[in-house]
Amino acid sequence: MSRYTDAKCRLCRRQGVKLFLKGPRCMTPKCAFEKRPFAPGMSRGSRRRLSDYGVQLREKQKVRYIYGISERQFNNYFVKANRIPGVTGENFLRLLEKRLDNVVFRGGVADSRSDARQMVLHRHFKVNGKIVNIPSFMVSVGDKIELTDVGKKHKKIKEIIDEKEQLNPPSWLEFQPEQFTFTVLREPNRDDIDYQVEESLIVEFYSK
Ligand code: SF4
Repeated sequence: MSRYTDAKCRLCRRQGVKLFLKGPRCMTPKCAFEKRPFAPGMSRGSRRRLSDYGVQLREKQKVRYIYGISERQFNNYFVKANRIPGVTGENFLRLLEKRLDNVVFRGGVADSRSDARQMVLHRHFKVNGKIVNIPSFMVSVGDKIELTDVGKKHKKIKEIIDEKEQLNPPSWLEFQPEQFTFTVLREPNRDDIDYQVEESLIVEFYSK
């Protein structure tokens, strides 16, 4: 199955949880989940009881939707995480966090991961001085991520930066305002994940 591009709010309603896929709108009363916190096609209070498998599947889909990636790519991350020494679930989340589009989002330059993905695809970022237009590009400790000259003039990026008095990236990223550069200080760890997730359910899902 390819990357999901249908109405994002339906995903939140189907998952029964806010996934924050639409940036600032998610914080307003316009949020579809706030207005209709039940699955599409169902009525208020009629959510089905899930089997163990259903719960694992839902957790897996939730994380996949949050990062906006395909089933195949998601599966590949799990295979890779399984090969890395350590706790598979944490390795898995770490790999997802190190995607370039996620770094752009977590750095505060984009309102959502999907916007960040577009910005990367449109060649608005350089990594260690070279333009990278691959959203899944995996950053490493010591990498420097900066806006290209085109990116610095991009209307939406300028608006986002002007709106915020300062960018507040997570502690594994350091922001140098003079050069408008993010440096990857360390590997992200479990405490750096900014949404609720039970990764053990995803491990169970793939371990069947
Ligand atoms: Fe989900 Fe609400 Fe954001 Fe829509 S607006 S993506 S329902 S959190």
